Amino acid sequence: MGGSANSLINRPILASIHTQAFQHNLNRVRELAPESKIWSVIKARSYGHSLAAALEGLAATDGFALLDIQDAAWLREHGWQGRILLLEGLFHENELDLAQELHCDLVVHCDAQIEWLERYADKVHKPISVFLKMNTGMNRLGMKPAVYRSAFHRLHAAGYRMHHMTHFANADQIDRQPTVGSQVELFNQTIEGLDGPTSLANSAAVLWHRNALGDWVRPGIMLYGASPTGLHEDIAHAHLKAVMQLHSEIIDIQDVLAGDRIGYGGRYEAPESMRIGIVACGYADGYPRHAKDGTPVYVRGGNEGGVVCPIVGRVSMDMLTIDLRNAPFAKIGSVVELWGDQVPVDQVAQMSDTIGYELLCAVAPRVPVKII
Ligand SMILES: *Cc1c(COP(=O)(O)O)cnc(C)c1O
Repeated sequence: MGGSANSLINRPILASIHTQAFQHNLNRVRELAPESKIWSVIKARSYGHSLAAALEGLAATDGFALLDIQDAAWLREHGWQGRILLLEGLFHENELDLAQELHCDLVVHCDAQIEWLERYADKVHKPISVFLKMNTGMNRLGMKPAVYRSAFHRLHAAGYRMHHMTHFANADQIDRQPTVGSQVELFNQTIEGLDGPTSLANSAAVLWHRNALGDWVRPGIMLYGASPTGLHEDIAHAHLKAVMQLHSEIIDIQDVLAGDRIGYGGRYEAPESMRIGIVACGYADGYPRHAKDGTPVYVRGGNEGGVVCPIVGRVSMDMLTIDLRNAPFAKIGSVVELWGDQVPVDQVAQMSDTIGYELLCAVAPRVPVKII
């Protein structure tokens, strides 16, 4: 980028991942949930940020929660000795040996998984922790409350170290009722009298429902500095920092006249003669094709350090186009931020009818990642 940092890479696009922002956000979770231990959720390549960056930036976490046992193996190979939770447990019975070897904690959400663990009980040489998942209303994964206690007793009798877990469906509906209350009540009633630590809260609950945290919180999106609601304003009070900055450069500039149309389908018509910046980032990099005209892109340079220039015209596979009327200083090679500190990913998401989660996870493998 601008020369040295990215000089070995032909196409000027880069996702820089700021480990200090990870540390900062993890500390914010600690402050918001001081009594709880933290599962840092790093599924989907750490929401697109790479496992390597998460391992470095979130090293102070109590554990990592993820989906793929291969990712657990990667963490162990790279020196992680803390806890690892497989958020959906095992997908097949034959993964039990590996899970035990990697010393993973297991979510158990269905009868089949209970049967596998019962059959495996004789082969357990170090106690395995189980997070038994209760379906309290999300109706995705989890044991129904009516059968939860018997499931608990079976696994307990088989020697597993038991924990209780549930997941909220509406913790991010901050302006609507009901949110988490009925799920928490059902959860607490169902586990009454049973031993074992609890795990309830995702990011939204950490941010807005601090009576519903449990012994282990499970933040994901807030660790990356984005909002569970999809609206950046909603997390202003939490003072989180964007971990990823998606950068590119202006690779060409077109001078267009009033009435000229930009890009595929000619979605945007220039109201006057103006300069259009061509940026080396498109939907094949994970930038949303549905970004509307007006979606902010930050162009570095000038007296202020940079200005926001809106997208004009449809995003194409490898490029997008921006209105440079705010940026007379812009030239070929000017660095742009697609999202990060200056442009919250939530703003881009909002302009594309989605949420920051989807954009972060969708950053394409062809985008090089640099851990800073
Ligand atoms: C993804 C996930 C989380 C994290 O959710 P965020 O909204 O990103 O905080 C927590 N718990 C479970 C079970 C998950 O699948």
